[in-house]
Amino acid sequence: MLLLATWLGCSCQPPPPEILIVTVDTLRADRLGFAGHDGAHTPALDALSSRSRWFSQATTPLPRTTPALASLHTGRWPHHHGAREVGDRVEITETLASTLAAAGWQTAAVSAMAVAGPEQGMDQGFDSFHLDHDARAATITEAALSIAAATDPTKPLLMWVHYADPHFPYQPPADGPLQPSAPGCRALVRRVARKQLRRVEIYADRGGVASSVLGGCRALYDAEIAAVDAAIGDLLEGWHTLRRSEGWLDRLRGSPSWIVFSADHGENQGEAGLFYEHGPDVNDASLRIPLLIEGTGVEPGRDDGVVRLEDVLPTLLSLAHVPAPDGLDGLDLGPRLQGLPGEPRIAVAESGSALHAGLFDHVVSGGSRLSCVNGARYSLCRGAGGRQTLHDHSVDPDLREDLAAELPEVVATLEAAAAIWPPESARQRAARTERFKLVGTPQLQGGYSWALYDLAADPSESVDVSSDHPEVVAQLHEALAAWDAPTPEALERDEDELQALRALGYVE
Ligand SMILES: [Zn+2]
Repeated sequence: MLLLATWLGCSCQPPPPEILIVTVDTLRADRLGFAGHDGAHTPALDALSSRSRWFSQATTPLPRTTPALASLHTGRWPHHHGAREVGDRVEITETLASTLAAAGWQTAAVSAMAVAGPEQGMDQGFDSFHLDHDARAATITEAALSIAAATDPTKPLLMWVHYADPHFPYQPPADGPLQPSAPGCRALVRRVARKQLRRVEIYADRGGVASSVLGGCRALYDAEIAAVDAAIGDLLEGWHTLRRSEGWLDRLRGSPSWIVFSADHGENQGEAGLFYEHGPDVNDASLRIPLLIEGTGVEPGRDDGVVRLEDVLPTLLSLAHVPAPDGLDGLDLGPRLQGLPGEPRIAVAESGSALHAGLFDHVVSGGSRLSCVNGARYSLCRGAGGRQTLHDHSVDPDLREDLAAELPEVVATLEAAAAIWPPESARQRAARTERFKLVGTPQLQGGYSWALYDLAADPSESVDVSSDHPEVVAQLHEALAAWDAPTPEALERDEDELQALRALGYVE
């Protein structure tokens, strides 16, 4: 390589290695141009995909921001890194950034999400961490490039950039590449902003308020993604010219460089009856994420095998020849980066806890006002002061009328269920291969009901085929037993945390 550098007329040292990780909040794997979505306008990411290994079956371990991104940064499952819900603090201090920093790398991060920031410990290992909550994609790109420009060009660099834009409410910038009219969804977003409509009414499609404007909301979501794509295009262009003054010559000199593109989770847009939200279930709409890896030693092409977000850390450390910390749940993708076959993998995931009062297809729902156990017709709820009330949610969806005194036997049944399922522990769980997905849903009487879905034949995950594939069911139960997520006590949140979650629309 030195000979080549001399031949090219430069006796200087090749630039040091660099890694750029770009993540986009709430980005469905299937809404990008390279994934075949007709409504997409994503030229920058499409171009990146053609230079990358594209993992078409990548999943997140928990479809909520803090737990998912903490798994990206620690290579561990949420119950091993400690952040199992939005806003939780990451307990593990050995991160990708801290490991590379210890090996002499510079590390910098830019995040547009308050729940992916220093308060959650997401800044661990980063020399600099710039948080600009809810900033537009173009603003985030500008910040990232100015921080990258200020780094030392003689030292290796890790940079992580997290964009927030496609998160609900869908409000694409007026100067973005796509400008759908979508009057119905725009009116819905305005009603939310004016507090004429509560988020929970949208998530649960109360009175058809969300499903009636689905087409427009999808178009606005695509427009948000198009705007992020433009900003990512600017970021990639700037990244390649900023630190590498001689551009392709540097690459010829063999300087290693990698770009990872992914998301924390997707978004339900009607799947499982849930609209413009992610987290309360494990449907593939929220579980699947895009994943591209481009760079030195990576052969472009498509890989349809299971890959998990927690695999990114061991893979990058292996590429950078930096030893990985012990105790990881993720696995190095190894030969699959060159297009060679690897060991088949199983992705295991859990939903978030049910933060939204009013999502009645879950055993437990909760919010800052009420935490409820939901039967088929009745909800037994506790308010902040500990007062217990019973509501007939089939006719009283806002849970206003208390029927506890009239129906003591219903109260007793639901009290028994509440003792089994504290709000924090009532979560769906899933294990997934390329083709099949086993889903466990908490049951009032305790335990889970199980269903196996054939994702190839039934992408809407509606037909249980357990009885046709008992060997697959056994294999996936085994994976879940090895994963063994705990069921901790009810989550307690202080007022500051709740205010932050309210601002994001997670609780009311
Ligand atoms: Zn998120």
